[in-house]
Amino acid sequence: MRIIIIGNGIAGSTAARFIRKYSDHEILMISEESEYPFSRTALMYVYMGHLRLEHTKLYEDGFWAKNRIDRLHGRVTEINPVSKSVQLHNGQSLSYDILILACGSLPKKFDWPGQDLQGVQGLYHLRDLQQLEDQTGRIRKAVIVGGGLIGVELAEMLRSRNIAVSFLAIESSFWNTVLPAEESAMVNEEIRRHGVDLRLNTGLEEIYNDGRGWVAGVRTGHDDHLEAQFVGLTVGVRPNIGFLYNSDIETNMGVMVDDYLRSSQKDIYAIGDCAELWTPRPGRKAIEAIWYTGRIMGETVAHTLCKGPVKYDPGIWYNSAKFFDIEYQVYGEIEPQPVEHVQSLYWQGANGKKSIRINYNSATSPNFPLAVRGFCLMGIRYRQEVCEQWIRSRATIETVLPQLGLANFDPEFFPQYESRLMDLYYIQSGKRLILKSGRDRDAVTRFLNKINE
Ligand SMILES: Cc1cc2nc3c(=O)[nH]c(=O)nc-3n(C[C@H](O)[C@H](O)[C@H](O)COP(=O)(O)OP(=O)(O)OC[C@H]3O[C@@H](n4cnc5c(N)ncnc54)[C@H](O)[C@@H]3O)c2cc1C
Repeated sequence: MRIIIIGNGIAGSTAARFIRKYSDHEILMISEESEYPFSRTALMYVYMGHLRLEHTKLYEDGFWAKNRIDRLHGRVTEINPVSKSVQLHNGQSLSYDILILACGSLPKKFDWPGQDLQGVQGLYHLRDLQQLEDQTGRIRKAVIVGGGLIGVELAEMLRSRNIAVSFLAIESSFWNTVLPAEESAMVNEEIRRHGVDLRLNTGLEEIYNDGRGWVAGVRTGHDDHLEAQFVGLTVGVRPNIGFLYNSDIETNMGVMVDDYLRSSQKDIYAIGDCAELWTPRPGRKAIEAIWYTGRIMGETVAHTLCKGPVKYDPGIWYNSAKFFDIEYQVYGEIEPQPVEHVQSLYWQGANGKKSIRINYNSATSPNFPLAVRGFCLMGIRYRQEVCEQWIRSRATIETVLPQLGLANFDPEFFPQYESRLMDLYYIQSGKRLILKSGRDRDAVTRFLNKINE
């Protein structure tokens, strides 16, 4: 059987790896972007000089040949589900038995005047990185539009080359559609601490032309005029599916897929950023354009094709990012606004660069009273498997708090966070909990072994 995968990002390359693990099928992975799968999340470090591009490769070069995964560097221009073939940019036609669409995203644009000028771009593709590198020498001032994770990375990249940055975000506080108010305020501070002119409640109206086709500046929604030789558009991404429009594959924002990641056309699947679920799990989005989703979907589709159908299970929500010097991790459900029957324990360190939030069901919740729902960590890392196990098993806050050290990577260094959270719980509930275990590495090992049993 011949399986063609369009896209060699985390979704496509994970699917290829697992198909090979489970079967002897012929596998061809096509990408117009790069010959070798690389880590898109590491692009910023290449620009900042911490890594070279070759260090971002997901596997060493020999891996693909050794595992008999063929690669083709080229662009698919059309798909024909009737003849079961794909057409390449050079006219070549390739037939498939199974086709997996793993074609990722593109930066969004919103019809702003001037958005196609030279010096205006998003940050997604390798060519975006190259373009930014090529233009850096002529940039003194930059404007970034869109207060999300890619925007803050772009701000850090530009600041690392001493470029003055104005950062426009339509929200009243950074990423407050996702982050609770305290964490969002912490990130506002962190961005400003790094010399970025963060302008909240501010949208983009127009991008000015310098008369020679290059960007000269922008006008904001407040009618402010900002000089800029570069404008970064980081207002989100959308599935990269333009080449599918004549293929009869059902699409909305992305390629519509069922629980088994099957598209509307026989033997065509879609995974990763480009897939849109007909029926996402409650509380989850139809498109989740993050690294971990691509990885889980890649593994799931491989299982379905080689070992028998299995439904896509997104697992416990997990995301991580970095806001300049503050690492961010979230496990489970952390709502940006207070929610009925949900309580929050929140501790913030004195330097404003560390915080722990644990959300749990209130004692009066109709479902699983006191069960822990999610963890949001800033500047502190917790063990993913420990947090997920607590959330999955609906462990109560009163079980979790006394052994919070189990989740901490350096249990012996941070007892003060745990006792402070216990104090906060006492204030909230009137119950005094006693620290039980989790201080020593043996307790952590025992807990992890139990999860893995
Ligand atoms: C700067 C940046 C930072 C990020 N940081 C994080 C992070 O910290 N955490 C996180 O969870 N997520 C992060 N993300 C998101 C994450 O990188 C993506 O969700 C993930 O890489 C998507 O993987 P994918 O395999 O679905 O698609 P992609 O990685 O986009 O791969 C798809 C590939 O298919 C190719 N392709 C598309 N169409 C065709 C065609 N017609 N013919 C041939 N090839 C085609 C594309 O060129 C691309 O190479 C970040 C993204 C960016 C841009």
